[in-house]
Amino acid sequence: MKIVAAKKILKANDQLAEENRAKLNAAGVFCINVVGSPGAGKTTLLEALFDGLDGRLRPAVIEGDIAGSIDAERIEKLGVPVVQINTQGACHLDAVTIAAAADGLDYAEIDVLVIENIGNLVCTAGFDLGEHLRMVVLSVPEGDDKAAKYPAIFQGSDVLIITKTDLLPHTNFDADRITADMKRLAPRAEVFQVAAMRGDGVPSLADWLVGKCKTR
Ligand code: MG
Ligand code: ZN
Repeated sequence: MKIVAAKKILKANDQLAEENRAKLNAAGVFCINVVGSPGAGKTTLLEALFDGLDGRLRPAVIEGDIAGSIDAERIEKLGVPVVQINTQGACHLDAVTIAAAADGLDYAEIDVLVIENIGNLVCTAGFDLGEHLRMVVLSVPEGDDKAAKYPAIFQGSDVLIITKTDLLPHTNFDADRITADMKRLAPRAEVFQVAAMRGDGVPSLADWLVGKCKTR
């Protein structure tokens, strides 16, 4: 009985995710679901990426956090429209929550909507939010074995961003190993290396995002 209920919830989520995607498509908004562990550098990556866009796209953000609005305040400082979701304990976002949060945004004013999911490499993998692309963020200090240990989140992602690459000389992180694991799990995925606080790798990532939005 419990298994049936869980399946029903996922089915309802998938249906609502399709509705979310249809609304985004109708408005011409490209949507990215950003997943990764707490502390992977997701918000710092977004700050650098938006700066790197140099006005070529109009971004907006939905920030998912268990509590507080620390990240949303950082995004707001950039002049980027942002809606904060507080899940009050829930460890992932779902399509229902995104549908509600999207009511707070004007899609006519947005080219790319970035959803920063709850920091979590496990159950965020199971919930389609209605995005067009899922980006998984992994920082160098987390280790190069994470795709092997948490395959689902990597397998379902379209792009891997390796962050904090300025720390590579201080660790035994093997970027070739995680890249090979990612390519095995998601052969068509693209892989970028970024040191967001220094700006390394940000221009090519920003150019890639502009290309993605213009060619869809
Ligand atoms: Mg964050
Ligand atoms: Zn969860």
